[in-house]
Amino acid sequence: MPDAAALRQRVAGLVREIPGFPQPEVVFKDITPVLADAAAYTGVVAWMAAPFRGTTDKVAAIEARGFILGGPVAYALGTGLVPVRKLGKLPAPTVAEAYMLEYGEATLEMHVDAIEPGDRVLIVDDVIATGGTAAATAQILRRAGARVVGVVALLEIEALGGRARLSDHDLRVLLSA
Ligand code: AMP
Repeated sequence: MPDAAALRQRVAGLVREIPGFPQPEVVFKDITPVLADAAAYTGVVAWMAAPFRGTTDKVAAIEARGFILGGPVAYALGTGLVPVRKLGKLPAPTVAEAYMLEYGEATLEMHVDAIEPGDRVLIVDDVIATGGTAAATAQILRRAGARVVGVVALLEIEALGGRARLSDHDLRVLLSA
């Protein structure tokens, strides 16, 4: 388990804010400098995995930046990885959920046969903003018969209130902004 305070400080210094991307109203939290820093990247992955060791059967990683963190978290936990993808990307039968974004609507999908009934699943993403993406993923997993053991992200944008939408879940974030 990495020293969480030191890790927080290092990661906070690396997350880059890009105002006006991809839309004028948004301040985009760019995590790519965190990924490029070996100590930060490996530390974040270890921090995400640690509380869920031994209690997780699969990691559900949300397209696209969730894949970059969820893959190594699954590897660290020794579990399988389930990609939760944007509409139309998965080839086999899926369970899908439409949800509201800050602006507009989106649909996420997961392969129906990716989950065994009762699987204990950890959801991984990079940023919790409104929480809609993680909440839709939790709903997909629930409908597929999984039990969501937690939701973990690198960063939460507190002002957007995502935590309230995920109140049924064990939500863990390294940083709040
Ligand atoms: P949410 O509003 O929680 O459903 O966020 C949707 C997705 O968009 C999350 O998976 C984040 O990766 C991404 N996202 C939303 N807002 C931001 C932001 N301000 N900076 C970086 N990523 C964001």
